[in-house]
Formats: sequence, C-alpha cells, structure tokens
Amino acid sequence: RAKSTPGTNVAFYDPSMDEVVRKRKNLANDLRQAFDRDELDLHFQVQKSVSTGDIRGYEALVRWKHPEHGDISPEVFIPIAEEYGLILQLGEWVLRKACARAASWLPPYKVAVNVSPLQFAHADLPKVILEILVETGLAANRLEIELTETAIFADKERSLHMLRQIKGMGVTIALDDFGTGYSSLDTLRAFPFDKIKLDKSFIDHVDSNEQTAAMVRAVLALGRSLKIPVLAEGIENSGQLAMLTFEGCDEAQGFLLGRPMSIDRIVSAGHLSLKPVMSQTEPVEDRR
Ligand code: C2E
Ligand code: MG
Ligand code: MG
Ligand code: MG
Repeated sequence: RAKSTPGTNVAFYDPSMDEVVRKRKNLANDLRQAFDRDELDLHFQVQKSVSTGDIRGYEALVRWKHPEHGDISPEVFIPIAEEYGLILQLGEWVLRKACARAASWLPPYKVAVNVSPLQFAHADLPKVILEILVETGLAANRLEIELTETAIFADKERSLHMLRQIKGMGVTIALDDFGTGYSSLDTLRAFPFDKIKLDKSFIDHVDSNEQTAAMVRAVLALGRSLKIPVLAEGIENSGQLAMLTFEGCDEAQGFLLGRPMSIDRIVSAGHLSLKPVMSQTEPVEDRR
C-alpha cells in the first residue's frame, strides 16, 4: 500500500513501505523457526457463568516470545502467519497443545480455541480436529472452536457443511467478535452456533453509553429467542459486569474475571487442579 500525500489523491512511492514488508518477511522467517525453538506458548483466559460465577472453561490464546523483540501480539503475528503460509501449522500446533492441556484438567472444564478463516477454509480441518481429539484423549464436547464471521461468509454452503461435520463430532462452535462483522444477523440465522461472543467494543461503553446499552440488550434478547447463550468479551470493571448480570447475559470473560495466563499460574492461584500424573502406576505394556 502506498501512502498518499495530504491534500492530494495521488499515491507516491514511499521507501518506508519496503521496510515494513521486509520486517514482516523477517518475522515470518523467525516464526517458521519459533516452533522448534520453543518460543510459542499458550495462555488461558477464564470464562465464567454470570449468574453463578462458576468457571465454564478457558480460552486458549497463543503467545510468541521473540528472542530479540520480546513478546509479540497475536494481532501482529497471526496475520503474518496467514500471509506467509504458516497458519495451518500454527493453528494445528495451538489445537494440539490446547487439547493436550485441557485433557489434564480437573474438573473437566471446556477449552475454547480460535480458528483462523484460512484454517477453516481448508477441507482437512474436521479430520485434523478428530485426530487431535483421539491423540490427546480429550472428549469432543470439551472442545469449543471460536470462529469469526469472516471465516464463514466466503462460501456459505461449504461453511455449513464444515460446521456440521465439526459439530457432528460433538465439538461446539462459538461465533467470536459478534457485532463487528457486516452481516451478523444473516450469519446467525444461517449457522448453528452454540454461543455468541459479543465483541469487547460493545462492552467497553455498556455502562456509560445508553445507545450501546440498548444494542447489548437487543443482542441478549436475540440470543434468548434463538436459544443461543451470549458471552460478553472484555469485561474490565464491575459496572459493566453489574449491567450484564442485570440484563441476563449468560457468560463473561475479561480482565476483571481473569487475565490470560499460563496454566502454571492458574493452578498455583488455586483455580484449577491437574490430574495426577500416573507415572508409577502406568499399565505395563503387554508385549506378547
Ligand atoms: P479474541 O479471540 O477475540 O481474543 C480476545 C482478546 O482480547 C485476547 O487478546 C485477550 O487477551 C483480550 N482480552 C480479554 N479480556 C480483555 C479485557 O478485559 N480487556 C482487554 N483490553 N483485552 C482483553 P490477544 O490474546 O492479544 O488475542 C488477540 C486476537 O488474536 C484474538 O482475539 C484472536 O483473534 C487472535 N488470536 C489469539 N490467539 C489465537 C490463536 O491461537 N489462533 C488464532 N487463529 N487467532 C488467535
Ligand atoms: Mg476468541
Ligand atoms: Mg473475540
Ligand atoms: Mg478479537
């Protein structure tokens, strides 16, 4: 993309754009090696029932610790992974790691995993999910896939087929960032979602802006009439939580309830226990 000079519509060649492309290319190369160099990790953010405060599950969020640049946001490197053909590998890594982690949790909370539109466009996804469930021993009904509208609007027929295959295994599907796409209502009507995740941008002003509050109420009413639970994303203060509780929102996620963090920290905070490792009592293999 070329920058345009203010006051004109003419785009000029801008050498700083070469620099941007070069940096992204370098990051893509670094990301390619990040898998073997053990620089990738998952953090988990709690999702709670609004009415009871019970933990429902955790959303897995990928983290990359770059050896020189430090922590890089997924908002930066996911698009790079998509552009440079690394998203299938990254997406599969996240799914495998998240399912393996969740298989060791007590009690058996759900794990929610973000799936990129490009991953969803790939016909192999249901097979990959099934293989990972078998391999990790995680029950299918403990996995939730988070999809955005951009993932499904390209080809409706195909998306519907794909969703049915995934749901057929018992995996649930959440519609992520709801309200930010451009055809939200149509998407809701056409696809069998198990959860609506109302985007943080609506929650930000839900307790201070009457128009935003009215829209949130409308989405909650929509969820109720479609019998799809609504989760509010990005709750940061108790005013927001109070309003959402009052309006009958089903689930909540946000810094107020818990920041994304490593499983070790969640365990040491006492919010999760891990199954005992049965190294001593492992069944002896029958080698006859
Ligand atoms: P998302 O799936 O909508 O995830 C929610 C994002 O909001 C996370 O940012 C989370 O840390 C942040 N968040 C949660 N509560 C609060 C809050 O109260 N306040 C604020 N300010 N932020 C909050 P994160 O981890 O940086 O991820 C950003 C986006 O990157 C995600 O949005 C998702 O679209 C993408 N992403 C993250 N991990 C993965 C992954 O494993 N695979 C794919 N394909 N995308 C991922
Ligand atoms: Mg998400
Ligand atoms: Mg979201
Ligand atoms: Mg988002």
